Amino acid sequence: MMAAITAAETGASVTLLEQSNRLGKKLRITGKGRCNLTNACDRDTFFENIPTNPKFLYAAYAAFAPEDTMSFFEGLGLPLKTERGRRVFPTSDKAADVVATLEKRLRQLNVTILFARAKEVLTEDGRAVGVATNKGDYSADAVILATGGKSYPLTGSDGSGYAIAKAVGHTILSPTPSLVPLTSPSKVCQKMQGLSLKNVSLRLVENASEKVVFEELGEMLFTHFGLSGPLVLSASAHLKSGAKNAYTVHIDLKPALDEETLDARVRSDFVKYQNRDFCNSLGDLLPEKMILSMIETVGIDGRKKVNSITREERERLVKTLKNFVIPISGTRPIDEAIITRGGVNTKEINPKTMESKLLRGLFFAGEIIDVDAYTGGFNLQIAFSTARLAGAAAAEGL
Ligand SMILES: Cc1cc2nc3c(=O)[nH]c(=O)nc-3n(C[C@H](O)[C@H](O)[C@H](O)COP(=O)(O)OP(=O)(O)OC[C@H]3O[C@@H](n4cnc5c(N)ncnc54)[C@H](O)[C@@H]3O)c2cc1C
Repeated sequence: MMAAITAAETGASVTLLEQSNRLGKKLRITGKGRCNLTNACDRDTFFENIPTNPKFLYAAYAAFAPEDTMSFFEGLGLPLKTERGRRVFPTSDKAADVVATLEKRLRQLNVTILFARAKEVLTEDGRAVGVATNKGDYSADAVILATGGKSYPLTGSDGSGYAIAKAVGHTILSPTPSLVPLTSPSKVCQKMQGLSLKNVSLRLVENASEKVVFEELGEMLFTHFGLSGPLVLSASAHLKSGAKNAYTVHIDLKPALDEETLDARVRSDFVKYQNRDFCNSLGDLLPEKMILSMIETVGIDGRKKVNSITREERERLVKTLKNFVIPISGTRPIDEAIITRGGVNTKEINPKTMESKLLRGLFFAGEIIDVDAYTGGFNLQIAFSTARLAGAAAAEGL
């Protein structure tokens, strides 16, 4: 939509093909229905949040940065607000308002919207001359492929664009899930499924190197298959693609307290509940759903009286509260990922125009390109920035 708007603003007559039955299906579910459309950060922070091919995006960022996204939407009458972590949302908290703003602009610019499925790019003499769709062929002076990744395929982004790009000679770097829930063989997750922990610190450690690849404070969730929630999705972006049983999650359940202070807190609870069974003494420290798993992990008999718990046992409890360990077997499938890592090889795209280096008149924008970012509005900003370049360059070349 952004590419179509930009091409139309640059003076081209534009047709937008959409295979789904409405525009912006994925956009409507972004940011839990609120659409975190960009991040109002500085340049350095922006690129720190892009683990894959950041340099490829330098020109796109220079042409259309987060402040440009904000002015663009505000200029079209959509008020925005900036929240924690510089995340930008519509003031209405409605992702549908972002889609409506884009749709209104498309209409203003007389962009033709066709609900049809693109099947291939038509070529002649080494340049793109149109698109073949399930509803017939359409000729064009330039084609922009902005078909997204292949996660959440029910939104329409089913990865069909990869085959279209491949058919004209592009290399597709294997699409893998990122920003995706993590799976664990540990029964503990199943037992605590549904439990959400707030204000915990999560560390993701690579087993072989013992390197901490991610560490952050926030919210997470136990599920029947393993772990999910914002912290876990962010952590998943740091996993090497396809790695199996190669990582461990370490949760600090009491990040605000150092071990000594936490030990003092546990001792005071143990004095308060000295005549209770151990299993009935942890209610002030932990959510109900976690107590049994904690007891099993620490390895103290739940029926043991608190006043007979040894110092060594108490210290073990404190250590486990500071470092609750969950082995990670891998990720959930790409269907459940927020974004797709991989896609059209950036080496085959001109970063200043988003034009294919293999086929003149073919341009790329958005998640179909092999770029991805962490959570925080960066992925949509990438889509907007690349679309802006592609739309303008496609129209200017006419
Ligand atoms: C649940 C969820 C929440 C998210 N939240 C955020 C967030 O808050 N902030 C953020 O920055 N990012 C978020 N993202 C990521 C963000 O949505 C994507 O990175 C972004 O939408 C990519 O834009 P795109 O235009 O490249 O692709 P898409 O938005 O996927 O759009 C591609 C469009 O192309 C259409 N299409 C595909 N193939 C064809 C074809 N062959 N013919 C015709 N049409 C076709 C699809 O139907 C689709 O409408 C979220 C993703 C998900 C799944």
